Amino acid sequence: MNNYDTNFDLKHIWHPYSSMCNPITAYPVISAKKIYLKLSNGKRIIDGMSSWWSAIHGYNNPILNRALKKQINKMSHVMFGGITHPPAIALCKNLILLTPKELECIFLADSGSVAIEVSMKMAFQYWQSLGFVKKVFLTIKNGYHGDTFAAMSVCDPKKSMHNIYNNWLPKHLFAKSPKSKFGKKWLSEDINSFYALLKENHKIIAGIILEPIVQGVGGMNFYHPNYLYEVRLLANSYKIPLIIDEIATGFGRTGKLFAYEYANIVPDILCLGKSITGGTMTLSAVISTRHIAEVISQGICKCLMHGPTFMGNPLACSVANENIKILKKNHWQKQVKNIEKQLIYSLLPLNSHEKVYDVRVLGAIGVVECKYIINIKKIQKFFVSQGVWIRPFKNLIYITPPYIIDKKSLKKLTNAIILSLNYNDFFYINL
Ligand SMILES: *Cc1c(COP(=O)(O)O)cnc(C)c1O
Repeated sequence: MNNYDTNFDLKHIWHPYSSMCNPITAYPVISAKKIYLKLSNGKRIIDGMSSWWSAIHGYNNPILNRALKKQINKMSHVMFGGITHPPAIALCKNLILLTPKELECIFLADSGSVAIEVSMKMAFQYWQSLGFVKKVFLTIKNGYHGDTFAAMSVCDPKKSMHNIYNNWLPKHLFAKSPKSKFGKKWLSEDINSFYALLKENHKIIAGIILEPIVQGVGGMNFYHPNYLYEVRLLANSYKIPLIIDEIATGFGRTGKLFAYEYANIVPDILCLGKSITGGTMTLSAVISTRHIAEVISQGICKCLMHGPTFMGNPLACSVANENIKILKKNHWQKQVKNIEKQLIYSLLPLNSHEKVYDVRVLGAIGVVECKYIINIKKIQKFFVSQGVWIRPFKNLIYITPPYIIDKKSLKKLTNAIILSLNYNDFFYINL
């Protein structure tokens, strides 16, 4: 039996959001290098996804590999309880340098969803330490923050898993998501719904949580920076901690190192993940102000109640440090700008296509929002036949390519999207 045995996979292995009764065959990838994924049949396909926003410098990067090998010879892991180590200290120094000076205290966690859990626990414990019981979070509709329970509870209530787990999720507050689009006119009434909810409920609100500028899995919407700015002002006036979820957008994807920079704001708590290790290891970071950290530490239990087994994993930290170095060395701003220019040039004309509802580009993110729900199985097969890896969801075809992609390969990605729109059977068109 070879290990490209997709029948075994179909029968025994869960994939993200998959069925064990009627699964879609997964494509066996046997290796990956730079922007290419190599399939078991020998075919190389161009990666348009960066493995869900993470592999920003492509695959099998020799510098990242070297960092991992060097660290593996020292130690792969050591508990973080009562022990510290150079890769974690170096990483936290790096993160402090990259983020605003107010963000000083770092919790290293093991995945994006866990970072969200930790950030919400921080806000909860912050109020508890001040002598308040505040359990409610305020967020906006169309958000996505991960798949664990607390994270799910602040995801969009309609577009996520709320109805499945309904009675099991704590109830939070959802303001209307902003209508003002990035780069378009600011509609000042946009903030009204958020303001009204905050004004009425501030006494029970522990924290405000949202994705900055780009709402990812909740619809790939890009909203106006003024909205985020207004949220910051309102959070200040009610003295409620603002949690910014940069797990998808962090490390340059939107054209800024962090998307909150578009609004010139500073979060109270910042969550980072996905691309933090360049797509090599799972790691996330939650960075808070010293004020929040100190209040928590002076509270009833005198500490933050979280401590994963693999906290601050040395392999993940050491590769994250190199990832940050490569960003600078590769001039990520230029890389992302060039991708943005080409995406605008290639994708924006699709706005007039009969199957397309809207096209938008920001940084190294290109989105073609279709009028119809997409048949993922069929379109995926087509994309692979075209030599590209693009994985749409719902009615959205989007790409978030590695920053190192060249013009010709990016063209292959966008051409495949353009071609795919010609096939009616890739879409559930209601006639
Ligand atoms: C992916 C994502 C998460 C969850 O991260 P995981 O590592 O998948 O748990 C949280 N927030 C945002 C904005 C994300 O894109």
